Amino acid sequence: AALDAIDSREKDVQAYLQVSADLALEAAERTDARRAAGEKIGPLAGVPVAFKDNMHLVGTRTTCASKMLENYESVFTATCVQRMLDAGATPVGKANMDEFAFGSTTESSAFHRTNNPWDTSRVPGGSSGGSAAAVAAGEATLALGSDTGGSIRQPASFCGVVGMKPTYGAVSRYGVVAFGSSLDQVGPFGRRVEDVALAMNALTAPGRDPLDSTSQDCAVDFLEHLDDPVEGLSVGVVPQLMEAKGLSQEVRDALAAALDSLRDQGARVVEVDLPNIASAIAAYYVIAPCEAFSNLARFDGVRYGYQEPDCATLAQQTSLSRAHGFGEEAKRRQMLGAYLLSSGVYEKYYYPAQQVRTLITQDYARAYQSCDVILLPSAPTTAWRFGDVSDPTQMYASDMFTISNNICGNGGVSVPLGLSAQTHMPVSAQLQGPAFSDRRLLRFARAIE
Ligand code: GLN
Repeated sequence: AALDAIDSREKDVQAYLQVSADLALEAAERTDARRAAGEKIGPLAGVPVAFKDNMHLVGTRTTCASKMLENYESVFTATCVQRMLDAGATPVGKANMDEFAFGSTTESSAFHRTNNPWDTSRVPGGSSGGSAAAVAAGEATLALGSDTGGSIRQPASFCGVVGMKPTYGAVSRYGVVAFGSSLDQVGPFGRRVEDVALAMNALTAPGRDPLDSTSQDCAVDFLEHLDDPVEGLSVGVVPQLMEAKGLSQEVRDALAAALDSLRDQGARVVEVDLPNIASAIAAYYVIAPCEAFSNLARFDGVRYGYQEPDCATLAQQTSLSRAHGFGEEAKRRQMLGAYLLSSGVYEKYYYPAQQVRTLITQDYARAYQSCDVILLPSAPTTAWRFGDVSDPTQMYASDMFTISNNICGNGGVSVPLGLSAQTHMPVSAQLQGPAFSDRRLLRFARAIE
């Protein structure tokens, strides 16, 4: 069914960089054979899954939507992908993304753009735009994405699907091409909260991944307690965020309705303060480019990917491979990172950014003393039209509601709340929770979906 949906919708949506029909059919046949033989099949048996193209899967290319890795064949499989396959999932393909996950619209892919399945003149969000669009278009039932500053939650919001960034460390990053190692986290997309809970079960079992030193044992049954009432629990709202400049009326209205629904279900609504939240974007756009610069130094035109032909010297080969292998945004991030880490500059930006990071983490810890979760927007608006936001700093500003959770490592989930009466596009709410409370987060998500 997923391959049929790809046949009929992919020309308009273009969610995939590569459709792995052979791998999918092989996996499906293996599952069928196992079932016929009376063997145990996994909880995701036969479920079609799309993987963001920064996740390694043997038998596919892993390009990160970059010319740099255009022909790069995976030589091993990422833990997150392997765990989905171990649960029985059927790998349908590799989803489009912003180049190396730098962006909010998937437009920086070196190969093609992805269109929002609800209205193809609009962006799907990013950087995991292909994953979100694949699920929204029925071209996959589940998808994995990565979220460094909102790249799961924002495209989920734009495409009207559920998208979860688990707590940092909950899902292994082994085999996922790094952007900002202290911020990156893998998570699932699904049409319903229950689907995302099923995927979380697969991603976290059987516990910690010894191949990722930051991975933690977070294996619980995410389906258990999913339908428990939220009565007696408390939801925090941050007035400063609810009144933020640039927050559209359609998103405000949807959030007000979600709060009413939680109140009706017996949850208590409390105001909480995150005094340093306004500095989150500034801190992120220092920390993330510095880490990206460091991580992407490995693409030197020798060890991986694109190599400029006919160079006279090694230095020329490295610089021309990088000049011609990376796109504009990837270069902008790395130049920014290189500058910010240089001596004299480092003290002025990187060090204070790390201090802001600590302050924001403390703000959240204080807020969670008086509430169980925080309700806030996923994105300030619904999906915009291609061409409507082209200035990079304006684009960076649209991450205002997601970034703080990567800075402190907590979990967050974007939940669709229907279509906006104004734009007729999906509108969503975000729920954030304390570290390692991802199961409770899904219970709240379930209560408002
Ligand atoms: N939009 C943010 C950025 O461009 C987040 C990207 C991400 O989470 N990968 O950095």
